Amino acid sequence: MQFSRVAEVYESIEATTKRLEMTDLLADLLKHASKKIIDKIVYLTQGRLGPTFSSVEMGIAEKLAIQLVARTTGKDNTEIQMSLTKTGDIGETAELLLAKKTQSTLFKTLPLTVLDVYDTLDKMAHTSGTGSMERKMGLLSGLLARATPKEGKYLIRIVTGNLRLGIADMTMLDSMAIAYGGGKDARNALERAYNISSDLGKVAGILVDEGLEGVSKFRVSLGNPIRPMMAERLSTPEEILKKLGGRCMAEFKYDGERVQAHKNGNQVTLFSRRLERITEQYPDAVELLRKHLRAEKAIVEAECVAVNSKTGELRPFQELMHRRRKYGVKEAMAEHPVSLFVFDVLYADGEDYTLEPYSKRHSLLEGIVLEGERIKTAESLLVENVEDLKRFFKRAVEDGCEGIMCKSVNDDSVYQAGARGWLWIKFKRDYQSEMIDTVDLAVVGAFHGRGKRAGVYGAFLLAAYNQKTDSFETVTKCGTGFTDEDLAKMKEMVDKHKIPHRHPRVESMIHADVWFEPSIVIEVLGAEITLSPVHAAAMNSIRKGSGLAIRFPRFTGKYRPERSAEDSTTTAEVLGMYQNQLRKLKGSTQDKPTRS
Ligand code: ATP
Repeated sequence: MQFSRVAEVYESIEATTKRLEMTDLLADLLKHASKKIIDKIVYLTQGRLGPTFSSVEMGIAEKLAIQLVARTTGKDNTEIQMSLTKTGDIGETAELLLAKKTQSTLFKTLPLTVLDVYDTLDKMAHTSGTGSMERKMGLLSGLLARATPKEGKYLIRIVTGNLRLGIADMTMLDSMAIAYGGGKDARNALERAYNISSDLGKVAGILVDEGLEGVSKFRVSLGNPIRPMMAERLSTPEEILKKLGGRCMAEFKYDGERVQAHKNGNQVTLFSRRLERITEQYPDAVELLRKHLRAEKAIVEAECVAVNSKTGELRPFQELMHRRRKYGVKEAMAEHPVSLFVFDVLYADGEDYTLEPYSKRHSLLEGIVLEGERIKTAESLLVENVEDLKRFFKRAVEDGCEGIMCKSVNDDSVYQAGARGWLWIKFKRDYQSEMIDTVDLAVVGAFHGRGKRAGVYGAFLLAAYNQKTDSFETVTKCGTGFTDEDLAKMKEMVDKHKIPHRHPRVESMIHADVWFEPSIVIEVLGAEITLSPVHAAAMNSIRKGSGLAIRFPRFTGKYRPERSAEDSTTTAEVLGMYQNQLRKLKGSTQDKPTRS
């Protein structure tokens, strides 16, 4: 397939504001891709060269891209910089300048194919050592010299990490189901394969090659991270126990970083919640798992928690930031040691346990983790009444935990890879305050600042994620809680995702000054949730024509780089919080003594 076809589809996707149209356009592109290139199209469309967990970085900075465009078009850096100031996008600048060049070029070159593009980018990404920058530039300018202006635009956007199509995993799965699975009903099988492999390209390849049957044969395998299971939330122990059928396994909810460890003999690989490899950050955790897991091959999940090096006391999540580094890991390790609390096992010695009930996984876990000072299974208790649950929660908080996780022990309590469901319910300290819980929201738009805030954004349009429709529904506009530094930082972060109109996966009745591809997530605390005709979250669920809005939102100062936009608080959670608030309100009016 020629790359021009891909570029055309990207252009149409960029122009649409309708999610369905976006899915169909993509489905049509995938339908015409052969077995040999479908995975490559899937990766490129998400701006990568492979799945998140193995993807090599293309990492071409804007400065280099300018030099590249200069080299290919014969223009000087100043001219390119001037055009860039006008367009605000190096891809568009490349398109404009390449168009001028094409007009003056007489000879034709061979058209670029998807394979040409992918293979060259892959080669470039793997080039390292002395003189590698020059070799990289050579490879890229070779591609760019053969590209049409439109192809050039997307090539440059891909290599600089600015594709901004906002095609996330679920949209891709929908398109794959339409193209090869006979319609959206095929989504479930595809989703399961994706959830246990985290590799959309691989799923697409098998789908084209062996059809849905091949996809349904997917099994958990070492080295392919499993997408994490997530918890719903409820705000009273009574509700939790009722929801879980009167019994549950309560566990401490530690405040650290979630790691998924894949042990293959002596080799241990760690993946983050976002499925990135973080093995190098935690050599101590790797060593602990190597020594304390009594299985030759295993996949376990654990919370990696910072501890006080002298007392062993648990420290908050923020302290792990010291471990996010490439250099000086040894020093950081000595100053900021960690403990591991293992809470699930998904695979052991050839057996896939993801579809086994939690009690079985839990007993296996207790059998394979050889506890030590710095590695333990999560503190747990099988609970059958509210009093015990309350006592356990109090103990967890006193021990420095965020709260507890309550897990179903019913027969159907499988590991729901990639899903937030009711088999795990979290109960945290903050739920007991007057305020609603903090929420993580995706930044989908912004409003220009005035006066003191001129030059930066004064407020942001924030959205919750609707899992069912794979879209982002606005829930609040937030301009409070940001320091001047925050505002400058926010501008820098969100501008990388600027797009000319509302993204097709964003539902909004509000017109923002600037729109973004949903990507950046921030934490916000609100005072209450109200019905609102101008916000799209959970529209019509409570009252026709009304959505839900978070009132008096305040940025808590926490950026959420470890989250993708799809990890934002869901609209279903916001709805749950609203209903909860109503219940509390009713409760408090009933409690008040009435005047006689
Ligand atoms: P939060 O912001 O509340 O941590 P989250 O969106 O990161 O939530 P949830 O699924 O809602 O993820 O909560 C589960 C998280 O709690 C896990 O991702 C994990 O990092 C952490 N955790 C700590 N202790 C446990 C435990 N015993 N079992 C499961 N998860 C635990």
